[in-house]
Amino acid sequence: MTRMAPKSKGFSTSKPQQRMAVIGGGIMGAMTAAHLVEQGVSVTVYDPNPMGTGPGASVDTGRSFRVHYGEDQALIQMAARSRNLWMGWEQKLGRPLLHTTGKLLIEEPGDRHALDSWRTLRGLGLRADRMSQGAVLEEWPGLHTGAATVDRLGGVLDPVVILQGLHVWLASNGVEFRGEALEVSSDSVDCAGTKTEFDRVILTAGAWTQRWVDVTMEVTRQELVYFDASALGDRLRRLPVFSHMESGFYAIPTVKDGRIKVANHHPGVLGHPDGDARRVSADFEKEARQFLGRYIPELAEADVARRYVCFYSGTADRDFILDRTPDGLVVGAGFSGHGFKFAPLIGRVLAQLALGLDPEVDLERFSMRRPALRGERTKLAV
Ligand SMILES: Cc1cc2nc3c(=O)[nH]c(=O)nc-3n(C[C@H](O)[C@H](O)[C@H](O)COP(=O)(O)OP(=O)(O)OC[C@H]3O[C@@H](n4cnc5c(N)ncnc54)[C@H](O)[C@@H]3O)c2cc1C
Repeated sequence: MTRMAPKSKGFSTSKPQQRMAVIGGGIMGAMTAAHLVEQGVSVTVYDPNPMGTGPGASVDTGRSFRVHYGEDQALIQMAARSRNLWMGWEQKLGRPLLHTTGKLLIEEPGDRHALDSWRTLRGLGLRADRMSQGAVLEEWPGLHTGAATVDRLGGVLDPVVILQGLHVWLASNGVEFRGEALEVSSDSVDCAGTKTEFDRVILTAGAWTQRWVDVTMEVTRQELVYFDASALGDRLRRLPVFSHMESGFYAIPTVKDGRIKVANHHPGVLGHPDGDARRVSADFEKEARQFLGRYIPELAEADVARRYVCFYSGTADRDFILDRTPDGLVVGAGFSGHGFKFAPLIGRVLAQLALGLDPEVDLERFSMRRPALRGERTKLAV
């Protein structure tokens, strides 16, 4: 847990307020800034784009939330903790942020991952079910996934609502927003020719991280197709996020725009958000349509409402990088296509690193020097 500085009696020990800079105002930067503010730090966030806009990975209509991670109890517990923190942010921002629908894993015969997920979640006292084809259809008419494992804590987070809400909250709590950072060190930032000194700098620049630090991660192009699902009427509201482990395809229903986003979790080809035309190939669109049509046949001919390309910052083992460089720059990167759900917890951990407090999560597996970063790519459950 967070260690707070002990309060002394008798005379004032008030120290000058610490000043810290966060580079990158995506979800990780926003949540880090928020926790620093809550600890009484004066924070400046640098980003060339207003929060909730721009080419970063945090801007989209829906991000899947789930706690199932096979047998990986540490990630499951981090996800469950993050869920509680999201609930806290719903209170602070005064609006719903997580639409709990359940997260369904389509089961293959003899599927270890689904079984491991179910067993581990149940063992930890978290809600999960194994369902027959009939039970799935009864709960979600029109969803023909066959037998499935359902993580009942899963659902959909709305990144735009979250980032816009955080922007207002941060601004009203005194956070200053500045543009593009040019030079960045552990205690200074150069922006538009002005160098500003800070007690600590935190780098949460997503796909742009390698501009300043040599972290081992790959930026890959991920194609997204948003299908018009308005034909489902009110059934869309209750539809779970669903995914297929082996192929990597997944579907995220987003009620507010009446769509289902289909994408593939396996890392795509190398790329970078700067300068990418964000065009989706006809082949990918065809595969996405086949995936959707296989499980929701009545959407087999649905119109495509939007096509987009987003970029994963992926590590070989799909674990994050939460660490400090030898000279003290705090780095949060490599979120590998599954970081959004953990953002409130990651923000706390990065703030704890910046403040010199014991982080509430064991950070050994998230070290920027771990050997696994140079190993073979791992395939992670979607
Ligand atoms: C297609 C896709 C699907 C995903 N699906 C899921 C999901 O379903 N569930 C889940 O949990 N996670 C998911 N993720 C992962 C999650 O969205 C990311 O892990 C998360 O958004 C990363 O946030 P970030 O703040 O690290 O990076 P970003 O959001 O990319 O933020 C980095 C910021 O740095 C800024 N920046 C760039 N250059 C500079 C500069 N010079 N100075 C200052 N700022 C700069 C950029 O403008 C940007 O705002 C998905 C990611 C993608 C791409």
